[in-house]
Amino acid sequence: MDTQAKIDVKRETAALLEKLGIEPSAYTGGDLASFTPVTGEQIASIKTHSATDAEKIIDKADEAFRKWRLVPAPKRGELVRLLGEELRRFKNELGRLVSIEAGKIPSEGLGEVQEMIDICDFAVGLSRQLYGLTIATERPGHRMMETWHPLGVVGVISAFNFPVAVWSWNAALALVCGNAVVWKPSEKTPLTALACNAIFARAAKRFGDAPEGLSQVLIGDRAIGEVLVDSPKVPLVSATGSTRMGREVGPRLAKRFARSILELGGNNAGIVCPSADLDMALRAIAFGAMGTAGQRCTTLRRLFVHESVYDTLVPRLKKAYASVSVGSPLETSALVGPLIDKAAFDHMQKALKEAAANGGNITGGERVETGHADAYYVKPALVEMPKQVAPVTEETFAPILYVMKYSDFDEALRDHNAVGAGLSSSIFTLNLQEAERFMAADGSDCGIANVNIGTSGAEIGGAFGGEKETGGGRESGSDAWKAYMRRATNTVNYSKALPLAQGVSFDIE
Ligand code: NAD
Repeated sequence: MDTQAKIDVKRETAALLEKLGIEPSAYTGGDLASFTPVTGEQIASIKTHSATDAEKIIDKADEAFRKWRLVPAPKRGELVRLLGEELRRFKNELGRLVSIEAGKIPSEGLGEVQEMIDICDFAVGLSRQLYGLTIATERPGHRMMETWHPLGVVGVISAFNFPVAVWSWNAALALVCGNAVVWKPSEKTPLTALACNAIFARAAKRFGDAPEGLSQVLIGDRAIGEVLVDSPKVPLVSATGSTRMGREVGPRLAKRFARSILELGGNNAGIVCPSADLDMALRAIAFGAMGTAGQRCTTLRRLFVHESVYDTLVPRLKKAYASVSVGSPLETSALVGPLIDKAAFDHMQKALKEAAANGGNITGGERVETGHADAYYVKPALVEMPKQVAPVTEETFAPILYVMKYSDFDEALRDHNAVGAGLSSSIFTLNLQEAERFMAADGSDCGIANVNIGTSGAEIGGAFGGEKETGGGRESGSDAWKAYMRRATNTVNYSKALPLAQGVSFDIE
């Protein structure tokens, strides 16, 4: 348990922002209050943008795009390389700011910045690999190929729980693909967005001739996000947040035929089979379910344990839950930091009440007092459930792990897939048939299906995202870059005849 904070968070925040070259006028005297979940106190007030400001920002980004799309892609990669360098230089400051504003423990705050560095490296390589195909044509003296062109202004809407990495996953790719970026961060984490903006400005300055307005930030709540979503000058919006948000944003984008990358809620599960390495499973489950105080989209929320190992694994898990340290990520070495705010705490308590009413047996879940009335620390909760009923089927963005016993693999797989979300999943087994089945066409229906690895902590090299109510978007690695470009199919006739496709004849005199 934490004790009364001894440090002055507000002063430390100001010092970090100063180091990044951000003037106090940017984070004082504004209308958007920024709080730290670590102590619950207000640490800044930032000026929000109006709808008119937002339109001007988008116009400027559109102008920047028109210049940037003509810069050769490897040269665009140079800007992202410099961004990676600046992120390396300010890794500690930005990581600490993530801990202050989102409440992550130090290794997770720094890990988030490392992810930004990794995606920059990936994007730099990608800037020389934006390949199209050459395709065999049926007509003599012709050549057919695909060309990938820049798309336009990419809107990025992000959630509080990955306040900086999500921007970089999108921005690093969008920039090498020749696009401009306008970012609407969560209204709960505006300071880290200002910090990223300042770091980007340093990279752009070193680059020399990046067009002004290539990457900008829009500060405000969902109303300002809606301006981005409705702007005809924004052909793609990558939106990360709750499924509720996706249900509003998705149809609005579809209405104007804009593209979307939707990265929405998860309700991730794991299956522990009879042959599982239980030591390995225990560590993976503990990190997946309790890490980041259960506030990752990939947090492990449901666990199906085979009856033959249930009585061995679950008591060990309960012991881990009882002993995990909860406290200030700024002053202690606790493994679990605070929830983002009171609303998150209330949602958690409501879900626990509902679980108890439906037969759940709860370990943990109570508030941990830290001497800060407005900070919400909790003991992670493990809830043994007789079966998969509400609230297990919904994502509650807090550290609650629902544990259920199974006897038949097919039944476990069916329950595993019987929820709305489809983000991440894992199986713990040494049995090849079970492992392969889990990853097969009739296995896990999630965008991420892991074997002997937990649900959370994906690497940037793979495409990240999920199915069903998680929205279907993919970002980060693999060929996710294609969503940020427009594909043109080009056919060139270098013969002296004009043969028509499919043997059609259309001879005019
Ligand atoms: P949220 O949906 O409340 O807000 C996310 C962002 O969307 C914020 O910037 C918010 O201002 C904006 N927004 C909300 N409604 C909008 C609208 N109608 N139009 C435009 N913008 C709108 O989510 P949150 O509480 O910040 O984050 C937690 C949620 O995000 C969880 O459900 C979590 O699973 C999800 N998440 C998903 C991923 C993923 O990659 N799949 C990653 C991180 C978080």
